Amino acid sequence: MDECIFCKIARGEMESEILYADEEVIAFRDINPQAPVHFLVVPRKHIVSALDLSPGDAGLLSRIFEVIKTVAEKEDIAASGMRILTNVGRAAEQIVLHLHFHVLGGRRMHWPPG
Ligand code: AMP
Repeated sequence: MDECIFCKIARGEMESEILYADEEVIAFRDINPQAPVHFLVVPRKHIVSALDLSPGDAGLLSRIFEVIKTVAEKEDIAASGMRILTNVGRAAEQIVLHLHFHVLGGRRMHWPPG
């Protein structure tokens, strides 16, 4: 997707603080952090949202969660607890229409979320 900002980050055409990258998945710091640690884990493949995943993406999804764990441990938020979330569509305020998992930690998370 030419104009998708997360595709651009994945292709190295837009700057970001990359925390992890492999052939399938990248993780980078959110530009507008909502917690002391806030990073995004994103498949390189352009998938609009969690609702657009197909059975063929099972391996990719599992890889994403492995990367979440790896980076969370590196960022030292895994042991204390953290939040993993993905927004879908307008009501959830999904701004970037490329599947991404927010990972937030380093402070107490509240429930229900806003
Ligand atoms: P969402 O509302 O779930 O679509 O969240 C999109 C997230 O992407 C927001 O938290 C933004 O701060 C973040 N974001 C947007 N552009 C960039 C960028 N260039 N680098 C890092 N994070 C970004």
